Order: sequence, then C-alpha cells, then structure tokens
Amino acid sequence: MDNSIEEQCAAKGMRMTEQRRVIARVLEQASDHPDVEELHRRAATVDNRISIATVYRTVKLFEDAGIVARHDFRDGRSRYEPVPDEHHDHLIDLRTGQVVEFRDEEIERLQAEIARRLGFKLVDHRMELYAVPLDPKDKT
Ligand SMILES: [Zn+2]
Repeated sequence: MDNSIEEQCAAKGMRMTEQRRVIARVLEQASDHPDVEELHRRAATVDNRISIATVYRTVKLFEDAGIVARHDFRDGRSRYEPVPDEHHDHLIDLRTGQVVEFRDEEIERLQAEIARRLGFKLVDHRMELYAVPLDPKDKT
C-alpha cells in the first residue's frame, strides 16, 4: 500500500494518539483479516493499556474515514483490513475461517457486463466464496 494508515489519517486531519498508532500498525501488519478481539490481543502485546473499547472505537473511526474495510464473513464477527490499493475478492474456508484473497479478471469483467445488461453501470461489488477444501482429509 502506498500510504500508511497513519499518513492517511494525518491527511484527513485526524488526531493520532499513541494507542491509535499501535492499532494502525497492527492492522497494517495483519494479512489475515482479524476481528476486533484479535486486533486487541495483538495491540495489547505492544501496549497492554489498550482496551478492547479503544480498539472498537478506533477501527470504527478508520472505517468511517474510508481507510479500513470491514467484512462480514458470516461467522458473526466483523473483520478488518486496510483498504487495498488494488481490488480483490475473498474466499472463506468454512472449516478453518481462513480468508484467501484472489482477483480474477474474467469475474470482474462479467460483473460489469451483467450490470450493463440490466441497464446499470457497475460502481462497486462484493464477492465472497464460501468453500471447504477439495480433499476432506486435507486439513488447512
Ligand atoms: Zn482482503
């Protein structure tokens, strides 16, 4: 990503406390779309004064500012990632909860085409694939 969360916050005139900086860094270092509890666990290893309420408020702030994306992958907990420079979609392993990122130009093209056929110009989409491993004996 070109600009760090901290730089993007500064560009939007947001006040950055030390705790917000820690949470921003934890988000940037994560590649697994963590939920708030997991973010809190990681942030607390850096600064154990960071409360889960602070993590909640901070990710909401980042989300409202368009810096962080929230996903609901049907397991009842919101999960977060920095808004990527390049669009990608997600495949969720239903057995492990692991999130796999992918991008497929054919799907991108098809979605725009379907919207066009229906008389619309596509401006955004979300696509989530829910899957299990091909071989049931093959864990993770
Ligand atoms: Zn992602």
